[in-house]
Amino acid sequence: MVRIVQIASEIYPLNKLDEICTHIEHCGRTCYKSENLITQETAIPFISGILKSGHESVIEHANVIFSMPINAKNRKVFEMRDVRGLYSSLEKDPLNGNELIVVSGNMRSFRDAARLYNVHDFLYIIGNPLFYIKENEGLSFDDLKIESVQQSRFSELHNYLTTHSTCDVGAYKDITRHRLASFSIESTRYCNYSKGKFGAELTMIDPCNIEKNSPMYDEWLNAMNCIEKSYMKMAELGAKGDQLRMLLPHSTKADMIMTANVAEWKHIFSLRCHSAAHPSVRKVMKIILGECYKIWPQFFNEQYEEFLAA
Ligand SMILES: Cc1cc2nc3c(=O)[nH]c(=O)nc-3n(C[C@H](O)[C@H](O)[C@H](O)COP(=O)(O)OP(=O)(O)OC[C@H]3O[C@@H](n4cnc5c(N)ncnc54)[C@H](O)[C@@H]3O)c2cc1C
Repeated sequence: MVRIVQIASEIYPLNKLDEICTHIEHCGRTCYKSENLITQETAIPFISGILKSGHESVIEHANVIFSMPINAKNRKVFEMRDVRGLYSSLEKDPLNGNELIVVSGNMRSFRDAARLYNVHDFLYIIGNPLFYIKENEGLSFDDLKIESVQQSRFSELHNYLTTHSTCDVGAYKDITRHRLASFSIESTRYCNYSKGKFGAELTMIDPCNIEKNSPMYDEWLNAMNCIEKSYMKMAELGAKGDQLRMLLPHSTKADMIMTANVAEWKHIFSLRCHSAAHPSVRKVMKIILGECYKIWPQFFNEQYEEFLAA
């Protein structure tokens, strides 16, 4: 019998600079289903492996916010248009009203800034040589300093949230269309659910748009159990993950890690909390909107009123 679980979402917080590596490992291992291997020593080897294999999207889940004074040299940051995930703006500091340049991005964007523009400042100031592209290059900016990680007192561009959602494959297919967000997702190729580690069973998301204890629900459940039977039979016949996943339906449970800044989250909620979106996508997104509203009522008040308060 397939296991049935509910849609869920939670925040993966990143609060301090020295938690960047453990945060990235936590995000990455959720997708490999190897969280049980995490110890105090595993983050560095895990990230080294990721960087060597070029699987850099995992390091997109850690964001850092910087500021620097406005001058001609520092304004060059606005010319770095080709670095995806790097945001820069002129802002007024809410603490003292001073104008400054605020720059933020994720660890991948800082590595791309080094590769594309030979700008190593972000990586050097973060200070973990694991992420460096080259050692001992000069600095490009004056007085660049770290403000915080993930959240800041600045605008929507410079506030980020990482979430872990348990949703169905259909929902994650829709959600991953949002190109300005970063994703890491449980692989249906590398997770072989016939193995003991997965309880030798398939896990499905309870369909929120099919009424429980109805003939339609019974039919859905029957189909899921048939698929599981065939999956286990094919595994017995020697099928590999690549072959087995051809059987998996849209209801299959997937773990999805997603990081975006507030500007992109707002765009996503406007499309995906709307009644035109698929009900399971809406359910995931409304949970996350509720969390965003708790953290940043100033940014999400309108969407909270539109989609959750009513
Ligand atoms: C109700 C609904 C039904 C849908 N039906 C279908 C469907 O039948 N078939 C289908 O294929 N898709 C469908 N989609 C997906 C939809 O077309 C988008 O791919 C998805 O919603 C991502 O949104 P986005 O493109 O606005 O923004 P994101 O990818 O989240 O990007 C945010 C913004 O960045 C800008 N941007 C990002 N990348 C580019 C780029 N390369 N060029 C220019 N601007 C860019 C745009 O301003 C964009 O609005 C549907 C979506 C919804 C909500």
